Amino acid sequence: MTLSLTNTAKTYADGTRALRSTNLDVAQGEIISLLGPSGCGKSTLLRIIAGLETPDEGAKLLFNGEDFTQIPVEKRKVGMVFQSYALFPNMSVRGNIGYGLKMQKLSKTEINTRVDEVIELCRLEPYATRSITALSGGQRQRVALARAFAPRPRLLLLDEPLSALDAALRGQLRDELAQLLRSFGITAIFVTHDQDEAMAIADRVAVMSHGEITQIGTPEALYRAPKSEFVARFIGAAMPLGRHIQADTMYFETSTLKLPAPAAGKTAFVRAEDVRLDDNSPLRAKVMSVTFLGTHYRIALEGLAPDPVFALHSALSAPKVGDTVGVAIDPAAILMLPAEKKAA
Ligand code: ADP
Repeated sequence: MTLSLTNTAKTYADGTRALRSTNLDVAQGEIISLLGPSGCGKSTLLRIIAGLETPDEGAKLLFNGEDFTQIPVEKRKVGMVFQSYALFPNMSVRGNIGYGLKMQKLSKTEINTRVDEVIELCRLEPYATRSITALSGGQRQRVALARAFAPRPRLLLLDEPLSALDAALRGQLRDELAQLLRSFGITAIFVTHDQDEAMAIADRVAVMSHGEITQIGTPEALYRAPKSEFVARFIGAAMPLGRHIQADTMYFETSTLKLPAPAAGKTAFVRAEDVRLDDNSPLRAKVMSVTFLGTHYRIALEGLAPDPVFALHSALSAPKVGDTVGVAIDPAAILMLPAEKKAA
C-alpha cells in the first residue's frame, strides 16, 4: 500500500506542538524508519497514521490514493507492534496469533490457515503450542510480529519494537526483523531512537527533530550527504573539526588542511572513521585517552578542534596517553555544513 501525508501536524490539548506540518510519501513495500531523539514527535506521527490520534485541521492522509483522514483506527487495516508486546501470557503462541482473527469472526478453517502461514513465516513452528511465559524475549517479539501480520494488514506500524530487549539480542533481532519485513513484502513504518537500528532495517530513514522531518533519504545518502549538523551528528556521530579557518584552508599549529569548499558560513565536520593515525603526516595532535574496543581503539585527540576529536585506530597496539601523534584526514571526508544557530 502507498501512504501519503500532507500538511500533517499535531498540537495536543495542552498546547504542546508535538508535530509541525509534515509531508511524507511512502511507496508500496517500502520500509521507512522515523529516527530521532526522545520527544521529537516520532510516536505522534506514527499514532496519527494509525488513527489513534487526530491531526490538526488541514491534514490529509491518503492510503493508496484514497482519503483516510477521517477513517477510524479499526477501519484502517493497519497492524501494530509496540515495545511492550502486550501478548496474553497464559495463552499459547497459536492462541495469541489467532486472537484478533477470532474477534474478526473469521471461520475456524480460515483462522487455522492464516495462523499456520505466519507461524511458518516467523519460524515459530517449534513453539506453536507453548505458552508465552515459556518464550525468550526474541521469540516473544516474533510472536508479536506474527500476531500483527496475521490479519493481513495493508500497513505495519512498529513503535520501538526492539527496545525492551538486551543489547546482544537487539543486534541479532534487528537483522532478523529487516529480513522478515521484506519477506512480508509489506509497507512498514518503524519508530526508533537508535541509529544503527534505523539504518539496518529501513529503505529510507526520516530523521526527526523538534516535531519535524529534517531530512529523509537512504541510509547511505544520510551518512554521506547530511544537510545539517543535527543529521551529521545523529547519523555517524560527526565531530566539529578545526580552530582557525580562512577561506578554504584550515590552520593548525604545525600544518594546514585544504577544505573541499570555502568555509564561509559553514562549519567543518569529520567522523572518527575518517581520522587516521599516520606518523608521516605533518598534522599533529596529542593523545588524551585510549579506549580498546576489540575491533579497534578509540583515541581522543587534542589540538584539532576546541573539543576532542576521536580517531578509530585498527591496529595491534595504540599510542599512549600524552604522546604526540601524526594525524591524516582525507579532505574529501570533511563535511561542510551550515553553521547551526545556537538557541539563545
Ligand atoms: P517521541 O516518540 O519522539 O519520543 P512523542 O511523539 O511521544 O515523541 O512526543 C512529542 C512531544 O509531544 C513531546 O514533547 C511529548 O511530551 C508531547 N506529548 C506526547 N503525547 C502528549 C499528550 N497526550 N499530551 C501532551 N503532550 C504530549
